[in-house]
Amino acid sequence: MATIGFIGLGNMGSGMCANLVKAGHNVRAFDLNPDAVARAESAGADGVDSAAAAVTDADAVVTMLPAGKHVRAVYETDVFETAAPGTLMMDCSTIDVDTAKAVGKLAAAKGFLFVDSPVSGGVAAADAGTLTFMVGGPEEAFQRAEEFLSIMGKAVIHAGDAGTGQAAKICNNMLLAITMIGTSEAFALAEKLGLDQQKFYDISSKASGQSWSMTSYCPVPGPVETSPANRGYQPGFATAMMLKDLKLAMDAAAASGATTPLGAQSEALYAMFDNLGGGTADFSGIYKLLDGSWKGD
Ligand code: NAD
Repeated sequence: MATIGFIGLGNMGSGMCANLVKAGHNVRAFDLNPDAVARAESAGADGVDSAAAAVTDADAVVTMLPAGKHVRAVYETDVFETAAPGTLMMDCSTIDVDTAKAVGKLAAAKGFLFVDSPVSGGVAAADAGTLTFMVGGPEEAFQRAEEFLSIMGKAVIHAGDAGTGQAAKICNNMLLAITMIGTSEAFALAEKLGLDQQKFYDISSKASGQSWSMTSYCPVPGPVETSPANRGYQPGFATAMMLKDLKLAMDAAAASGATTPLGAQSEALYAMFDNLGGGTADFSGIYKLLDGSWKGD
């Protein structure tokens, strides 16, 4: 069994850490928040009081942190200074492509095996071990990472070189935002035209307007039982998180010269929804902004 240093035990990291423990690994868990460390201890991990202590003599390191600046700081200050050469490192946070590439490059120069491996799936999938991992990094690092990532997820896909895991994540979520807004607009228009929304669903879900946003996560109450729309738009996937990913996508588009006009519109609409109090609502709640019924609740 491997010794794993786990850094970042928040909403996502706590369940992921618990699943590594359940699989029989010896997990050393660190977070700046002592309550998060205590929670990991109660799940069977060894709580430690620094990132360096988590990483010392570890076979592998997992990080699940808020943003690029945290990832860069943790790796540059603690992990790279403490880990043994050849250590496997998996950053599962969602961060900007440039930071992922830079940290990956530095790791390779220091003789570590590093992958950027962001996830699709929320807290429920993190707890259940059913995340999807999109992995960027060298083949050898991917081969070693797969063993650990497959404990925490149902799918582990190698996207390419360093940074491509993050690229896959933000391209996917930009597309998700666009289809969710488009689907919401169509349902709002159907209603204005006197077309029953269930009837519109029955037709469009079997016609060319079909998408995941419609058939797995329908933004209006009724047609899809498990949709957040049926529980007052409780997340799910919060608007603030979608907005974070859209900002990363738009920064990457500007830096790479890609033309993403619908991505830009989506960012603007989600920023407006966030400003109107929708930040903690599920991102499918954008429907209520578009049909004019959002009251900031
Ligand atoms: P979170 O804020 O709940 O957890 C982040 C944790 O990192 C916190 O407990 C914080 O104390 C800790 N932390 C911050 N800086 C640290 C440091 N220097 N050293 C040690 N610990 C530190 O966030 P989350 O919801 O768990 O998300 C984590 C990452 O996963 C983010 O990048 C997010 O975009 C991504 N993500 C989240 C979801 C979701 O549904 N929550 C889904 C997919 C991806």
